[in-house]
Amino acid sequence: MQRINWMVELKQLALLFTAALVLGWITGYLLLALLLAALLYIASTFRQLLRVQRWLMAEDGSDAPESSGLWGDMLDGIYRLQRQNREERQRLQGAVDYLRDSLAALSDAAVMIDQTGDIEWCNLAARRLLGLRYPEDVGQQLVNLIRSPEFIHYYEANSYQTPLDCASPHQPEKQLQFQLTFFGQGSRLLFARDITHTYRLQEMRKDFVGNVSHELRTPLTVVNGYLETFVDSELAEQPRYKRAFQQMLEQVRRMESLIKDLIVLTRLETVPDEGEHGVVAVCPLLRQIREEVLAVFNQQREIVLDCDASLGLRGEGEALRSAFTNLIMNAAKYTGEQGKIQVRWFRDGEQARLQVEDNGLGIEAHHIPRLTERFYRVDQSRSTQTGGTGLGLAIVKHVLLRHHGELQITSSLDEGSTFACSFPLSQCQITST
Ligand code: ADP
Repeated sequence: MQRINWMVELKQLALLFTAALVLGWITGYLLLALLLAALLYIASTFRQLLRVQRWLMAEDGSDAPESSGLWGDMLDGIYRLQRQNREERQRLQGAVDYLRDSLAALSDAAVMIDQTGDIEWCNLAARRLLGLRYPEDVGQQLVNLIRSPEFIHYYEANSYQTPLDCASPHQPEKQLQFQLTFFGQGSRLLFARDITHTYRLQEMRKDFVGNVSHELRTPLTVVNGYLETFVDSELAEQPRYKRAFQQMLEQVRRMESLIKDLIVLTRLETVPDEGEHGVVAVCPLLRQIREEVLAVFNQQREIVLDCDASLGLRGEGEALRSAFTNLIMNAAKYTGEQGKIQVRWFRDGEQARLQVEDNGLGIEAHHIPRLTERFYRVDQSRSTQTGGTGLGLAIVKHVLLRHHGELQITSSLDEGSTFACSFPLSQCQITST
């Protein structure tokens, strides 16, 4: 830092007052001469102040006014600071422009929203995909411009771990994926991506699976009918055909249950939830499922039922039956003849839980996150023996999704497994007994 030049200033002051002293002594008006010198000094200081003030107010980046001594040093210092400040501002502005340019060039819509929910900025794609206008919409509440109820629900939930897929509010034929993120102090960044192509492919896949399953059902029923007739005939009693007929019948039945599960799954995925549902009496439903499962396994399992009869569940009866049957059937399938299964339906704090616990084969921890994937099996041979389709838990997952429920799986190998479905109490009806 440059040192301020006090000496020059003091010398100038000393020169002025020496001249005043000499003049006063010659004229005999010493005091008046000194007063005039002081006034002169104050006037020149005031003039400098005015020049500095004018220069600072102008803010036009012009050079500091020419000055000498103390004033010159001060003005140089201020000028240097101003220049540094300007350079720093330009650097920051450059970084902001660079970021905005890259966001502006994105093919995804990007919108910056401040703490109060007002739009601060949006890129070109946001104008195209969301119908926003820039800069006209700056300062407008985002939820007043994107009025889709699904989006407003997602926006107001303030928890954005998973993105939201829904139709574009601006072009309903387009399907968008919205992702919100918090940044800074409560500001939000919204990205919206056009996923119409992937969405259509998924729809085609669902339609295809649904159509194929339906088309296969009729020929299979015919084949099954003939096979059942043959199995009962004398021909099937002949040793060389007996095993072949049995195997054919088994495989046809396996295919039938596969198709049945595929149809259920496609329906769960494609038919929208109708909204209002009646209350399903869970206890009688579980008792019925228990009887059916015991009948399939020739009473070779112990199934204990512990059920809170005052707790009903609002939802689709057939879908819930299918999910609960899959869980109890699995527990029976993957335990031996000594299998002991405990089924509980109870209130657990702010949730209602259906818990199916068995003392069967158990599952290694690394399989657990993948169990609800279609056709995922822990052990291929295990499922083939039990006649499983690999779709049971995928059905359970979809049914729970439609009922705002969640599936939790805990298991230890050779000790047993617990499959628990939790539903929010808002989904239940509690009757006093
Ligand atoms: P599957 O028709 O093969 O039973 P699921 O989707 O119902 O298909 O189950 C997926 C896999 O999870 C099964 O193949 C099985 O390996 C495992 N599994 C499911 N339930 C149990 C259970 N109670 N005990 C042990 N393993 C289980």
